[in-house]
Amino acid sequence: MSNTVINVAIDGPGGAGKSTSARAAAKELGFIYVDTGALYRAIGVNALRKNIDTKDVSAVAASLEGISVDLVFENGEQKVLLNGEDVSTEIRTPPASMAASDVSAVPEVRAFLFDLQRDIASRNSCIMDGRDIGTVVLPDAQVKIFLTASAEERAQRRFAELQAKGSSSTYQQVLDELIERDYNDSHREIAPLKPAEDSVLLDTTGVSLEEQVEKIINIIKEKIS
Ligand code: C5P
Repeated sequence: MSNTVINVAIDGPGGAGKSTSARAAAKELGFIYVDTGALYRAIGVNALRKNIDTKDVSAVAASLEGISVDLVFENGEQKVLLNGEDVSTEIRTPPASMAASDVSAVPEVRAFLFDLQRDIASRNSCIMDGRDIGTVVLPDAQVKIFLTASAEERAQRRFAELQAKGSSSTYQQVLDELIERDYNDSHREIAPLKPAEDSVLLDTTGVSLEEQVEKIINIIKEKIS
């Protein structure tokens, strides 16, 4: 890694505010923002489109044959391409979220996406968010942050986002799905969700987005100064 490249890893459960605050902090610092969940979501969408049972590990592994998943950055905004098609909107539905969580437990899927994530980080100063960025993908990142918040507050945030998009999901459905995904993500054998030993823990329960962004920027500036 060239010494001018700065890598910031932000991990944590769904709805902790990672993407919104990481995007804002990256903009402020002039870094790119890389949302790695989008990659797992694209593989989940590919499996759903092919009517594959996303809990069937060997079928999911076989579904990778011949597919391409890429990230492109336009005006600082990330788009995810599945076989060259922009699926950035399709990956945001609740079924895509569950499918992403299922496929992310498959070792072949994690291996398939590993080089892509490493390559982007080696060439760009970035804030990369996910579940295993500080522990597995970028263990040498100069800054590692683990962002969390209570399940109820995370569900409330997700629910508001989905409502704004016209989704009919209830708060209870959103909370139940979030708890199920948290469980899956932190209990899988490979790259489970957990804070890196050298990460800074940030609990965003009751913290406004502006404050979150400010805290993240301060942590980054302090670590890289
Ligand atoms: O962050 P997001 O909610 O978009 O991630 C969707 C799913 O992708 C997560 O529930 C998790 O299972 C998986 N994921 C992962 N490792 C990452 C990012 C996301 O396993 N680095």
